[in-house]
Amino acid sequence: ATPTAVMVATGVGATHGVLIKGGDALERAQSVQYVIFDKTGTLTQGKAAVTTAKVFAEMELGDFLTLVASAEASSEHPLARAIVDYAYHYHFFGKLPAAEHAADQSKEILSQWLLEAVDFSAVPGRGVQCLINGKRTLVGNRSLLAENGVIVPTEAENFLVDLEVNAKTGILVAYDGTFIGVLGIADPLKREAAVVVEGLKKIGVCPVMVTGDNWRTAQAVAKEVGIEDVRAEVMPVGKADVIRSIQKDGSMVAMVGDGINDSPALAAADIGMAIGAGTDIAIEAADYVLVKNNLEDVITAIDLSKKTFARIR
Ligand code: ADP
Ligand code: MG
Repeated sequence: ATPTAVMVATGVGATHGVLIKGGDALERAQSVQYVIFDKTGTLTQGKAAVTTAKVFAEMELGDFLTLVASAEASSEHPLARAIVDYAYHYHFFGKLPAAEHAADQSKEILSQWLLEAVDFSAVPGRGVQCLINGKRTLVGNRSLLAENGVIVPTEAENFLVDLEVNAKTGILVAYDGTFIGVLGIADPLKREAAVVVEGLKKIGVCPVMVTGDNWRTAQAVAKEVGIEDVRAEVMPVGKADVIRSIQKDGSMVAMVGDGINDSPALAAADIGMAIGAGTDIAIEAADYVLVKNNLEDVITAIDLSKKTFARIR
């Protein structure tokens, strides 16, 4: 393709909301063999909402939710925001929150209602921990509790598995060394996700899902969207390794992601595609920005590359 053709294609991309950073990226997209999708915020809407809360201890539901929200209040994670919103609505309205009310609480209101959490730390790929009323409080996945020696009773484990096979993320809570309850969080698929996965398969591209979430939830979501190749329980630093392992045989790999923890993978991929609504770090690391947050533009980008670089026969 001539430089003019590349310039024209870049312009066409831009008018469709596909920002392309350079002719090399434009050229590579035509040869893509694998598209690796991040799950949360990429295949899913990134609008996590709590659907279930169950206490497995001698504690009122309201007190349980306040405790969990207090631990999560300092976390930036989308799961944390869903938990705080849910607890807030339960606390102030005594009922479940409607999505449109989410995230409207001011810092002042929060500080009056929440318990003081000290010694807070986020554990990447695991959850959060802090001290509340002097007691160690853990909110996160199985690994977080296991690493802290907390035993999850069989009844709770069964409850958790039931959430996960239904594509929900189960969050476990421990207080003072004892397991006290579970939250179930749902994050619906983007409307176009399944159609795009099918469209990729039709043009001979293999879709893969990569996530830090647990295996059961990941597989349930993958099944819904039509992806067979799933890589779950991948630590934030591990996503780039997944890319490199697929590239090993010389395959051309695209990565689509939105999060801070996707940026090394976006950089490692032959074609990094960031969701426009994603974090700045992801957008910076990517070769493409999908401004409309619509996964159909993954196919738009491939098509544009093919049309621009089509061999003259
Ligand atoms: P993803 O690939 O979905 O962005 P992350 O690496 O951010 O995954 O998180 C992996 C898992 O760690 C989550 O599915 C959740 O179980 C747990 N986790 C991470 N952060 C939190 C948090 N703030 N509160 C509760 N659980 C968390
Ligand atoms: Mg994500």
